[in-house]
Amino acid sequence: MDSWRAAVVPALPGQGTEPRIHDTATGQLVPAASGRTATIYACGITPYDATHIGHAATFVSWDLLIRAWRDAGHDVRYVQNVTDVDDPLLERADRDGEDWRELAAREIARYRSDMAALRVLPPDALVGAVEALPVIERFAGQLADRGALYELEGDQYFARSADAAFGTMPRLDPDTMVELFAERGGDPGRPGKKDPLDPLVWLAARPGEPHWPSQFGPGRPGWHVECAAIATDYLGARFDVQAGGTDLIFPHHEMSASHARVVYGGSGPDGPAFARRYLHAGMIRLDGEKMSKSLGNLVFVSALLAQGADPMAVRLALLAGHYRADRDWTAAGLAAAESRLARWRAAVARAGAIPGPPGSARVGRGTPRSPRSGGGRGRAGAGGRARAAGERPGHAGCAGRGRSVGGGNHRHSHPASGLDGRGGARPRHG
Ligand code: ZN
Repeated sequence: MDSWRAAVVPALPGQGTEPRIHDTATGQLVPAASGRTATIYACGITPYDATHIGHAATFVSWDLLIRAWRDAGHDVRYVQNVTDVDDPLLERADRDGEDWRELAAREIARYRSDMAALRVLPPDALVGAVEALPVIERFAGQLADRGALYELEGDQYFARSADAAFGTMPRLDPDTMVELFAERGGDPGRPGKKDPLDPLVWLAARPGEPHWPSQFGPGRPGWHVECAAIATDYLGARFDVQAGGTDLIFPHHEMSASHARVVYGGSGPDGPAFARRYLHAGMIRLDGEKMSKSLGNLVFVSALLAQGADPMAVRLALLAGHYRADRDWTAAGLAAAESRLARWRAAVARAGAIPGPPGSARVGRGTPRSPRSGGGRGRAGAGGRARAAGERPGHAGCAGRGRSVGGGNHRHSHPASGLDGRGGARPRHG
């Protein structure tokens, strides 16, 4: 499906350092990419409600990694899915008496618009589950060919016993896995299953629910097989990073990885199939409370922007905390981000008025970066960046333009922070 419009990312002089991330599977801080082309699969939305600030925090975090990769000289291949048919979507559509396709289309459009406003770079492929049905069915067929599926009342289950490495990524004990599986959409107690942790791969058609013909009969795919199939189809059997919120560590990411190990191999010189690194972002609370639909305390990005919040301040407020930490969204945090942003924009506007040496504004990637320390200029590179920013007509006008900033007219940003105004220091990762 269509992605969204990309913000322009200007070249900076020199090359950034190689990003390292905390890998959930090993608990180690490791280089995120394994080759020149860095590859990432990020689990996307189920479009039954508007994008909330927790989603935004997650996608802004991956955006930061992608910009840092680009700044370090990598090409990036980024794939994200949209689970545009699944139980939560069908339940919401049913509750509201709306066609599930219309609900999905509306929320996907809102998601695109929120991401563009936050200057999140779009994935190279944004892939809906419905459009990927042939890919998912083919992958599920490969699981069946390997004897990893069994039928229960028409539904197809994955036998986790088919994967000797099942459970290795999250490093959880079996009881905790069962508990989380029950909490997060699994059905450990269904009678007839070979193992409580076996996940659904293909659901037989239910009355009144959408279904498609398949080798397993009419039905629709499960969520874990959807991501396993899309990720490996678009990025290959092995790719660099699987990314999502910490609530996806188990069961979702482990189930997808387990499916892929069965189809593409769980060992070998290149290591097990699926992601080389697992990257997980913390949850966002509202004033100390977990945000949830049931508590009714979700903060929606579109609502914040409609209330006049500057999308760059929203982004900066999210980046003020460490991406792995569970953290609070507060009005005070947003206000602090707004004033910091205003200071940065004012500083850039002032720096833009200072003429630099000839050619200093046009240096691009590959030009040696000014020394970061010593030489009497402190962070000498910052001067060059500010001059480069100041050269662009209208850049200085960032300051004081209120919420129009980042809303479509501004097409420049700091490659690493993604903030316009070029105010950000290089991020630390991990
Ligand atoms: Zn996923």
